[in-house]
Amino acid sequence: MTETLTKAAVLILLGPPGAGKGTQARMLEEDFGLVQLSTGDLLRAAVAQGTEAGIRAKAVMEAGQLVSDEIVLAILKDRMAQPDVARGVILDGFPRTAGQAAALDGLLAQAGLAVTAAISLEVDDEAMVGRVSGRYTCACGEGYHDEFKKPAVAGTCDKCGGTAFKRRADDNAETVRERLKAYHAQTAPLIAYYAEQGVLERIDAMGAIADIRAGLAGIVSRVSG
Ligand code: AMP
Repeated sequence: MTETLTKAAVLILLGPPGAGKGTQARMLEEDFGLVQLSTGDLLRAAVAQGTEAGIRAKAVMEAGQLVSDEIVLAILKDRMAQPDVARGVILDGFPRTAGQAAALDGLLAQAGLAVTAAISLEVDDEAMVGRVSGRYTCACGEGYHDEFKKPAVAGTCDKCGGTAFKRRADDNAETVRERLKAYHAQTAPLIAYYAEQGVLERIDAMGAIADIRAGLAGIVSRVSG
């Protein structure tokens, strides 16, 4: 079911790797007709295409560190310039630094917009290594997990019936620990930044995927309905 929002929402999903940002962003797309915008996906596409930005980002991503604001902002601005984002966006994995958050505010202000809500997916760090290490994705983009979200028929995607799955190079235990460190050092401070702006929402993201989806839908309806 797609609910109609009365205004274009700019939603940010904040949370460490494994918190479920990508999974929930895809569900919000379905539930509200918003567009998921994942800088991780955009960067992986740039790496796969071998663009200059992709070549510069590859080693940094494999080390679990953050790609420079300059590269990420250039990629984000290109994507934000496309017409489909006018319906409203869910930013998944962006912003990740104070510089990115300030740049986003500036970009939105130029368009007469502001962040509608920054939603912090609250999880226990210790559980994240297991969550991330077990995950894989169908070529269509649907996400799965060895333990928590298996396809109904083993080896076949529930969404598209495809059988081609892939795992990310940086979804191994060692790199996930680096990514968690980067999250706490550079991204977690944004929780206070958005609290000061009065747009912070928090949700317990340790429960079942469907329960978190319902909780998020409630928040999105309240802040932008
Ligand atoms: P993600 O798919 O969001 O987990 O991102 C995967 C990797 O891409 C991260 O570990 C970073 O190396 C890079 N990345 C994604 N988004 C950003 C961002 N907003 N700023 C800096 N690096 C990013």
